[in-house]
Amino acid sequence: MSHEVLIVEDDESIAAGLALNLKIDGYQPVVTSDGESALARIREHPPVLILLDIGLPGISGLDVLSQLRAAGNLTPVIVLSARRDEFDKVAALRLGADDYVTKPFALAELLARVGAVLRRSTSTTSATMPVVAPPAGELLGFSDVLVDLGKREVTRAGAAVKLTHLEFELLVFFLRRQREVFSRDELLRHVWGLQSASRRTVDNFVAQLRSKLEEDPEAPRHIVTVRGSGYRFDP
Ligand code: CA
Repeated sequence: MSHEVLIVEDDESIAAGLALNLKIDGYQPVVTSDGESALARIREHPPVLILLDIGLPGISGLDVLSQLRAAGNLTPVIVLSARRDEFDKVAALRLGADDYVTKPFALAELLARVGAVLRRSTSTTSATMPVVAPPAGELLGFSDVLVDLGKREVTRAGAAVKLTHLEFELLVFFLRRQREVFSRDELLRHVWGLQSASRRTVDNFVAQLRSKLEEDPEAPRHIVTVRGSGYRFDP
């Protein structure tokens, strides 16, 4: 099985540091330094995960991400963004990134996130992914939303809704633990498999789920904020 992790990064020293550490952790890192060659590489050798810098020569990392998702490619993507580009991070999550880290990042944290994203990803688009899926046909739902756990498909009023791996995992977690209140730290542990990370990560993913699944994302009725505590799912 391929363990190829594609690093799309034009800063040679960052790319080399990432590649070395991924290799030590047992992955097969491949580096491309621009978006066009990244898209070509992904077509020819589908990776298990993509580490994607936003600021690239030629087309940007955000363009790469939006082209991938528009083509139905759901390979997990962790975006690498510079600290000043808070806006880009939100845009990246909107476009379907699974996670992001801010440069300069601690390699240990990034590797933990790589491991967490891969443990949770069971891509429906890549035959090389380890698929640990429940039998097809197990359905969960609320309101006009239907979740097929086996196929990892979500529909709303009969129309397909595209979720990233972690959006899907967060939704399923909520559906299985209805009416319980979870803090952001608890959600990071249960869904992301992370002991510590920015709690805003959770807020950003909740915002994404609301925008895709709530009738009025500004006044959510299902994924509700419990002030001072965290989040609760009401069917
Ligand atoms: Ca760059």
